Amino acid sequence: TVTLDTDFFRRFLDRTTRVVVARAAYLTDLDAAIGDADHGANLKRGFTSAAEVTADGPAATPGALLTAVGVHLTNTVGGASGPLFGTVLRRMGKLLGEDAVVAPETLGRALAAAVASVRRLGDSAPGDKTMVDALQPAADAYTEALAGGGDVVAALDAAARAARDGAAATVPMRARRGRASYLGERSVGHQDPGATSSAMLVTALYEATD
Ligand code: ADP
Ligand code: MG
Ligand code: MG
Repeated sequence: TVTLDTDFFRRFLDRTTRVVVARAAYLTDLDAAIGDADHGANLKRGFTSAAEVTADGPAATPGALLTAVGVHLTNTVGGASGPLFGTVLRRMGKLLGEDAVVAPETLGRALAAAVASVRRLGDSAPGDKTMVDALQPAADAYTEALAGGGDVVAALDAAARAARDGAAATVPMRARRGRASYLGERSVGHQDPGATSSAMLVTALYEATD
């Protein structure tokens, strides 16, 4: 299994940065179809510059680390996704408190709280073709896996699979929030960029387990 310490969350942020950089063009292409073609660039800018904040920052605990990066994303990434991803990390950071090692159940509560914050801030729900369609199933799958006796690695694996399935399931949806909603029926047939990047983040969380 894995210890959910500050190193674990640093590995998560490193992997997130790497995948966001590697897949920036793909995410921007998805956003070109139903948005304004900046999603990959937004996240690439936010996460690469966040590395500077965390490199010399006094982020000694998982909570402090996630909070610092969340504040940074909210402040530096424009558009809808900056404040939304910033809220995810800040809310998780707050829930993790000052623990040096996070209990698996606490991570589950933090994931659930983060999704609830996104839904509140974005006035969005599952089925609206947004990042919520990846994040909500991920949080639910994590909690279910733990409740079913799985360890944190199994629970994060389940969460990552649910997030990727959730992102894929946005293809036939009609967007009801964000820029894609301006397209109405024409948003159907395209995968939501924010759900796609959210699945990458949850997958990075799973991959940080090894
Ligand atoms: P912008 O649309 O401002 O250019 P991005 O392209 O970076 O911002 O991010 C777009 C993504 O943000 C969408 O694909 C969607 O997943 C997410 N999003 C937009 N509005 C909302 C909302 N109200 N609630 C939840 N997620 C949203
Ligand atoms: Mg955009
Ligand atoms: Mg934009």
